[in-house]
Amino acid sequence: MMLCDCHNHSWFSFDAKGNIDEMCCGAASAGVRIFALTEHYDYDDRGGERHYGVRHARRMAEMKRAKEEWADRLELLCGIEIGQPHLDPVRSCKLTAEGGFDLVIASLHDLRPGRDIYRDFDYSSIEVCDAVYAQFFDEAEEMIEQCDFDVFGHFDYPLRMMEKSVPEGSMLRWKVRMLSFLKTLAQSGKALEINTSGARRWLGRPGGEEWLLDAYRQFGGRRISVGSDAHRGRDVGCGVEAAYRQLLRSGFDSVTVYRGRRPEQISIR
Ligand SMILES: [Zn+2]
Ligand SMILES: [Zn+2]
Repeated sequence: MMLCDCHNHSWFSFDAKGNIDEMCCGAASAGVRIFALTEHYDYDDRGGERHYGVRHARRMAEMKRAKEEWADRLELLCGIEIGQPHLDPVRSCKLTAEGGFDLVIASLHDLRPGRDIYRDFDYSSIEVCDAVYAQFFDEAEEMIEQCDFDVFGHFDYPLRMMEKSVPEGSMLRWKVRMLSFLKTLAQSGKALEINTSGARRWLGRPGGEEWLLDAYRQFGGRRISVGSDAHRGRDVGCGVEAAYRQLLRSGFDSVTVYRGRRPEQISIR
């Protein structure tokens, strides 16, 4: 079985500390064979351009060097995680067209108007949780319609903050809305991400629930990307095997990796 971890951050992201080699070292010791670094680039005040933009050229040079140096142990892929690309579809499409990336993850870390999903909501109120997810899926569909990307990142990002109000850590409460989102995503041909960071943190398991994997599959969705969202070397690969087991139970026998923006299915058996 080939472990592919397609969502990770090095110090080229504003919130991570490990350099590229430390991250590759973490990947190699976790047995990860295909390893993508997907640095943050957010359209908001987090500093996409401020932090990443000014380092892009240096990052690409270091990635090229690391790709060669690590080639006998793992395949290093060069990705980007764009937050809120729909806030500036023209510029974000230019970034993806010219950036030279293997894969592009699109994520929502903020909701309009510039509200940080982690910091700016009081999730002790279930009404707030409901309102956040209603808006989350609306904006997610807007991104699918308007933006150029390969993978929709961590659908369960707000859920990470809802421990008090949704202690079971399940998306079931928003099932109807989520199903229509999954249908849109499946039809778009873009990949659903199973973000396994829940396995090392709040959930004790990776984020894909059986009902939603089954539904995505029934809607024709075949592309699944798995990523640990590690921000330090020792977290790389955590939960990936558990996610594979879930996927196999739901009838998926492969995951999708992107090389030069082209999808390829990799067997998980
Ligand atoms: Zn993210
Ligand atoms: Zn991330």
